[in-house]
Amino acid sequence: MAGRAALAACGLGLALAGCGDAAQGNASTSVIVAASAASVVASAAVRRGDDFRLQGELTQGGWLRGHAPEGAVALTLDGQPVAMAADGAFIVAFDRDSGPTAQLVAQRADGAPVSRALAIAPRAWKIEHVGVGPRPGSVPSAEFQRRRATELARINAARAVNAASEGWRQSFIWPAKGRLSGLFGSQRIYNGTPGSYHSGTDIATGESGTPFAAPADGVVVLAADQPFTLEGRLLMIDHGMGLNSSFLHCSELLVKEGDRVRQGQVIGRIGATGRATGPHLHWSIKWGKARLDPILFTGPMN
Ligand SMILES: [Zn+2]
Repeated sequence: MAGRAALAACGLGLALAGCGDAAQGNASTSVIVAASAASVVASAAVRRGDDFRLQGELTQGGWLRGHAPEGAVALTLDGQPVAMAADGAFIVAFDRDSGPTAQLVAQRADGAPVSRALAIAPRAWKIEHVGVGPRPGSVPSAEFQRRRATELARINAARAVNAASEGWRQSFIWPAKGRLSGLFGSQRIYNGTPGSYHSGTDIATGESGTPFAAPADGVVVLAADQPFTLEGRLLMIDHGMGLNSSFLHCSELLVKEGDRVRQGQVIGRIGATGRATGPHLHWSIKWGKARLDPILFTGPMN
Protein backbone atom coordinates (compact mmCIF):
# COMPACT_ATOMS: atom_id res chain seq x y z
CA MET A 1 0.00 0.00 0.00
CA ALA A 2 2.85 2.32 0.79
CA GLY A 3 4.11 2.18 -2.77
CA ARG A 4 4.49 5.46 -4.53
CA ALA A 5 2.90 7.48 -1.78
CA ALA A 6 5.58 6.48 0.68
CA LEU A 7 8.29 6.99 -1.89
CA ALA A 8 7.50 10.66 -2.10
CA ALA A 9 7.18 11.38 1.55
CA CYS A 10 9.21 13.39 3.97
CA GLY A 11 11.02 11.89 6.90
CA LEU A 12 10.45 12.42 10.58
CA GLY A 13 10.56 15.40 12.82
CA LEU A 14 11.59 18.35 10.69
CA ALA A 15 11.76 21.14 13.18
CA LEU A 16 11.29 23.93 10.70
CA ALA A 17 8.43 22.75 8.61
CA GLY A 18 8.34 19.15 9.35
CA CYS A 19 6.68 16.37 7.61
CA GLY A 20 6.48 14.95 11.13
CA ASP A 21 5.44 11.39 11.07
CA ALA A 22 2.27 12.27 9.33
CA ALA A 23 0.25 9.90 7.29
CA GLN A 24 1.13 10.17 3.65
CA GLY A 25 -2.03 9.66 1.72
CA ASN A 26 -3.16 9.78 -1.83
CA ALA A 27 -6.19 11.79 -0.92
CA SER A 28 -6.13 14.93 -3.00
CA THR A 29 -9.83 14.61 -3.72
CA SER A 30 -10.86 14.32 -0.11
CA VAL A 31 -8.74 17.21 1.02
CA ILE A 32 -10.24 19.47 -1.58
CA VAL A 33 -13.69 18.55 -0.37
CA ALA A 34 -12.67 19.07 3.22
CA ALA A 35 -11.13 22.43 2.44
CA SER A 36 -14.22 23.60 0.60
CA ALA A 37 -16.55 22.45 3.32
CA ALA A 38 -14.57 24.26 5.94
CA SER A 39 -14.15 27.42 3.95
CA VAL A 40 -16.11 30.43 4.97
CA VAL A 41 -15.98 33.70 3.15
CA ALA A 42 -16.43 36.51 5.59
CA SER A 43 -19.21 38.92 4.94
CA ALA A 44 -18.48 41.97 2.84
CA ALA A 45 -18.67 45.46 4.18
CA VAL A 46 -21.84 46.37 5.99
CA ARG A 47 -21.01 50.02 6.34
CA ARG A 48 -18.12 50.64 4.00
CA GLY A 49 -15.50 52.79 5.58
CA ASP A 50 -16.69 52.48 9.16
CA ASP A 51 -16.30 48.75 9.49
CA PHE A 52 -13.80 46.07 8.51
CA ARG A 53 -13.83 44.78 4.96
CA LEU A 54 -12.81 41.13 5.16
CA GLN A 55 -12.39 38.14 2.94
CA GLY A 56 -10.74 34.82 3.64
CA GLU A 57 -10.79 31.29 4.90
CA LEU A 58 -12.06 31.40 8.46
CA THR A 59 -10.91 27.97 9.45
CA GLN A 60 -7.96 26.26 11.14
CA GLY A 61 -4.89 26.75 8.93
CA GLY A 62 -6.69 29.56 7.08
CA TRP A 63 -6.30 33.29 6.71
CA LEU A 64 -8.18 36.56 6.55
CA ARG A 65 -7.25 39.57 4.45
CA GLY A 66 -8.97 42.86 4.67
CA HIS A 67 -8.99 46.54 5.30
CA ALA A 68 -9.32 48.17 8.69
CA PRO A 69 -12.02 50.78 9.19
CA GLU A 70 -11.33 54.34 8.13
CA GLY A 71 -9.17 56.14 10.66
CA ALA A 72 -7.74 52.98 12.25
CA VAL A 73 -4.33 53.60 13.79
CA ALA A 74 -3.70 50.17 15.32
CA LEU A 75 -4.98 46.65 14.91
CA THR A 76 -4.93 43.62 17.21
CA LEU A 77 -5.89 39.97 16.91
CA ASP A 78 -6.66 38.50 20.32
CA GLY A 79 -4.75 41.38 21.86
CA GLN A 80 -1.61 40.91 19.77
CA PRO A 81 -0.52 43.74 17.45
CA VAL A 82 -1.08 43.18 13.72
CA ALA A 83 0.82 45.11 11.07
CA MET A 84 -1.23 47.35 8.80
CA ALA A 85 -0.23 48.76 5.42
CA ALA A 86 -0.56 52.46 4.65
CA ASP A 87 -3.88 51.81 2.90
CA GLY A 88 -5.25 50.00 5.95
CA ALA A 89 -4.85 46.55 4.38
CA PHE A 90 -3.72 43.64 6.53
CA ILE A 91 -3.55 39.87 6.80
CA VAL A 92 -4.09 37.63 9.81
CA ALA A 93 -4.09 33.84 9.89
CA PHE A 94 -5.11 30.93 12.08
CA ASP A 95 -2.90 28.13 13.28
CA ARG A 96 -3.67 24.48 12.56
CA ASP A 97 -4.73 24.16 16.22
CA SER A 98 -6.47 27.53 16.49
CA GLY A 99 -9.35 27.80 18.92
CA PRO A 100 -12.92 28.39 17.68
CA THR A 101 -13.00 32.16 18.08
CA ALA A 102 -10.75 35.17 17.57
CA GLN A 103 -11.25 38.86 18.17
CA LEU A 104 -10.14 41.49 15.71
CA VAL A 105 -10.02 45.04 17.07
CA ALA A 106 -9.16 48.29 15.31
CA GLN A 107 -8.24 51.29 17.43
CA ARG A 108 -9.17 54.67 15.99
CA ALA A 109 -7.53 57.94 16.73
CA ASP A 110 -10.89 59.55 17.33
CA GLY A 111 -13.76 57.32 18.27
CA ALA A 112 -14.61 54.00 19.75
CA PRO A 113 -12.67 50.87 18.75
CA VAL A 114 -14.22 48.69 16.08
CA SER A 115 -14.37 45.04 17.06
CA ARG A 116 -15.18 41.94 15.03
CA ALA A 117 -15.67 38.49 16.51
CA LEU A 118 -14.41 35.77 14.18
CA ALA A 119 -15.62 32.17 14.23
CA ILE A 120 -12.80 29.81 13.22
CA ALA A 121 -14.23 26.58 11.85
CA PRO A 122 -12.52 23.39 13.00
CA ARG A 123 -11.08 21.02 10.41
CA ALA A 124 -11.43 17.27 10.15
CA TRP A 125 -7.75 16.36 9.97
CA LYS A 126 -6.61 13.11 8.51
CA ILE A 127 -5.74 11.20 11.67
CA GLU A 128 -4.36 7.70 11.47
CA HIS A 129 -4.32 5.47 14.52
CA VAL A 130 -1.45 3.05 14.59
CA GLY A 131 -1.52 0.12 16.99
CA VAL A 132 2.13 0.26 17.84
CA GLY A 133 4.21 2.48 20.07
CA PRO A 134 6.04 5.55 18.80
CA ARG A 135 9.00 4.82 16.63
CA PRO A 136 11.99 4.33 18.85
CA GLY A 137 13.84 7.59 19.09
CA SER A 138 17.48 7.31 18.24
CA VAL A 139 19.85 9.38 20.31
CA PRO A 140 21.16 12.20 18.13
CA SER A 141 24.89 12.19 17.73
CA ALA A 142 26.99 15.07 18.97
CA GLU A 143 27.83 15.85 15.37
CA PHE A 144 24.15 16.03 14.43
CA GLN A 145 23.38 18.27 17.39
CA ARG A 146 26.18 20.64 16.50
CA ARG A 147 25.06 20.90 12.88
CA ARG A 148 21.43 21.19 13.87
CA ALA A 149 22.09 24.12 16.19
CA THR A 150 23.72 26.01 13.33
CA GLU A 151 20.86 25.19 10.97
CA LEU A 152 18.20 26.27 13.46
CA ALA A 153 20.06 29.52 14.06
CA ARG A 154 19.93 30.26 10.33
CA ILE A 155 16.25 29.37 10.14
CA ASN A 156 15.44 31.60 13.11
CA ALA A 157 17.49 34.45 11.67
CA ALA A 158 15.59 34.13 8.39
CA ARG A 159 12.28 34.21 10.24
CA ALA A 160 13.34 37.37 12.04
CA VAL A 161 13.72 39.22 8.73
CA ASN A 162 10.80 41.48 7.97
CA ALA A 163 11.08 41.98 4.24
CA ALA A 164 9.20 44.67 2.37
CA SER A 165 7.04 42.74 -0.08
CA GLU A 166 3.48 42.96 -1.28
CA GLY A 167 3.24 39.23 -1.98
CA TRP A 168 0.92 38.74 1.01
CA ARG A 169 -1.80 40.60 -0.88
CA GLN A 170 -1.75 38.19 -3.82
CA SER A 171 -3.85 35.19 -4.60
CA PHE A 172 -1.27 32.39 -4.38
CA ILE A 173 -0.53 29.95 -7.19
CA TRP A 174 0.73 26.36 -6.91
CA PRO A 175 4.54 26.26 -7.07
CA ALA A 176 4.31 23.00 -9.02
CA LYS A 177 1.63 20.62 -10.19
CA GLY A 178 1.71 17.01 -9.15
CA ARG A 179 0.21 14.44 -6.85
CA LEU A 180 -0.45 15.61 -3.30
CA SER A 181 1.51 12.95 -1.46
CA GLY A 182 1.20 14.50 2.01
CA LEU A 183 -1.53 16.70 3.41
CA PHE A 184 -1.20 19.62 5.80
CA GLY A 185 -2.31 18.77 9.31
CA SER A 186 -2.35 15.00 8.93
CA GLN A 187 -1.13 13.09 11.93
CA ARG A 188 -0.45 9.64 13.27
CA ILE A 189 -1.41 8.53 16.75
CA TYR A 190 0.76 5.71 18.09
CA ASN A 191 -1.09 3.74 20.75
CA GLY A 192 -2.68 6.97 21.91
CA THR A 193 0.51 9.04 21.68
CA PRO A 194 0.21 11.72 18.99
CA GLY A 195 3.12 12.16 16.63
CA SER A 196 3.83 15.62 15.28
CA TYR A 197 1.49 16.64 12.50
CA HIS A 198 2.52 17.28 8.91
CA SER A 199 3.24 21.00 8.63
CA GLY A 200 3.04 21.44 4.88
CA THR A 201 1.74 20.12 1.62
CA ASP A 202 3.83 17.56 -0.26
CA ILE A 203 3.76 17.77 -4.04
CA ALA A 204 5.23 14.76 -5.84
CA THR A 205 6.08 15.11 -9.49
CA GLY A 206 7.69 11.72 -9.90
CA GLU A 207 11.26 12.77 -10.51
CA SER A 208 13.99 15.05 -9.24
CA GLY A 209 14.78 18.21 -11.14
CA THR A 210 11.24 19.42 -11.83
CA PRO A 211 11.25 23.21 -11.57
CA PHE A 212 9.01 24.97 -9.08
CA ALA A 213 7.89 28.58 -8.95
CA ALA A 214 7.27 31.26 -6.34
CA PRO A 215 3.61 31.08 -5.25
CA ALA A 216 3.62 34.84 -4.69
CA ASP A 217 6.03 37.77 -4.77
CA GLY A 218 8.62 37.88 -2.05
CA VAL A 219 12.21 38.18 -0.91
CA VAL A 220 14.53 35.20 -0.45
CA VAL A 221 15.46 35.16 3.24
CA LEU A 222 17.17 31.77 3.29
CA ALA A 223 18.77 29.75 0.50
CA ALA A 224 20.62 26.79 1.99
CA ASP A 225 22.74 25.46 -0.85
CA GLN A 226 24.48 23.09 1.54
CA PRO A 227 21.67 20.69 2.43
CA PHE A 228 20.38 20.87 6.00
CA THR A 229 20.22 17.59 7.89
CA LEU A 230 16.44 17.36 7.81
CA GLU A 231 15.13 19.95 5.35
CA GLY A 232 17.82 19.32 2.74
CA ARG A 233 18.28 22.25 0.37
CA LEU A 234 15.91 24.75 1.84
CA LEU A 235 14.45 27.93 0.41
CA MET A 236 12.48 30.46 2.44
CA ILE A 237 10.55 33.32 0.85
CA ASP A 238 9.21 36.24 2.86
CA HIS A 239 5.95 37.53 1.36
CA GLY A 240 5.77 40.50 3.77
CA MET A 241 3.60 41.19 6.82
CA GLY A 242 4.90 38.10 8.62
CA LEU A 243 3.79 35.66 5.92
CA ASN A 244 6.41 33.29 4.52
CA SER A 245 6.81 30.12 2.50
CA SER A 246 9.39 27.36 2.95
CA PHE A 247 10.40 24.81 0.31
CA LEU A 248 12.20 21.69 1.47
CA HIS A 249 14.23 18.86 -0.08
CA CYS A 250 15.17 20.82 -3.23
CA SER A 251 17.70 19.35 -5.64
CA GLU A 252 18.78 22.83 -6.72
CA LEU A 253 18.14 26.43 -5.69
CA LEU A 254 17.99 28.96 -8.52
CA VAL A 255 17.90 32.13 -6.41
CA LYS A 256 20.03 33.47 -3.58
CA GLU A 257 19.43 35.27 -0.32
CA GLY A 258 18.29 38.84 -0.82
CA ASP A 259 16.83 38.18 -4.25
CA ARG A 260 13.43 39.64 -4.97
CA VAL A 261 11.22 37.06 -6.69
CA ARG A 262 7.97 37.45 -8.60
CA GLN A 263 4.96 35.19 -8.53
CA GLY A 264 5.45 32.42 -11.10
CA GLN A 265 9.22 32.86 -11.31
CA VAL A 266 11.10 29.56 -11.26
CA ILE A 267 13.11 29.55 -8.02
CA GLY A 268 14.34 25.98 -7.63
CA ARG A 269 14.11 22.33 -8.56
CA ILE A 270 12.31 19.58 -6.69
CA GLY A 271 14.45 16.89 -5.07
CA ALA A 272 14.87 14.48 -2.21
CA THR A 273 17.65 16.11 -0.18
CA GLY A 274 17.54 15.95 3.61
CA ARG A 275 15.21 13.51 5.27
CA ALA A 276 12.98 12.48 2.39
CA THR A 277 12.19 9.09 0.95
CA GLY A 278 11.62 10.28 -2.59
CA PRO A 279 11.54 13.43 -4.70
CA HIS A 280 8.81 15.85 -3.69
CA LEU A 281 8.35 19.48 -2.75
CA HIS A 282 7.35 20.09 0.85
CA TRP A 283 5.74 23.54 0.87
CA SER A 284 4.80 25.11 4.17
CA ILE A 285 3.41 28.54 4.98
CA LYS A 286 3.60 30.41 8.27
CA TRP A 287 2.23 33.68 9.49
CA GLY A 288 4.22 34.56 12.57
CA LYS A 289 4.09 31.37 14.61
CA ALA A 290 0.88 30.10 13.01
CA ARG A 291 1.24 27.11 10.70
CA LEU A 292 -1.08 27.36 7.72
CA ASP A 293 -2.52 25.13 5.03
CA PRO A 294 -1.17 26.03 1.56
CA ILE A 295 -4.30 24.68 -0.12
CA LEU A 296 -6.30 27.42 1.57
CA PHE A 297 -4.07 29.98 -0.17
CA THR A 298 -4.21 28.45 -3.65
CA GLY A 299 -7.52 26.66 -3.89
CA PRO A 300 -7.64 23.13 -5.31
CA MET A 301 -5.01 22.09 -7.82
CA ASN A 302 -6.46 22.02 -11.32
ZN1 LIG B 1 6.24 17.07 3.83
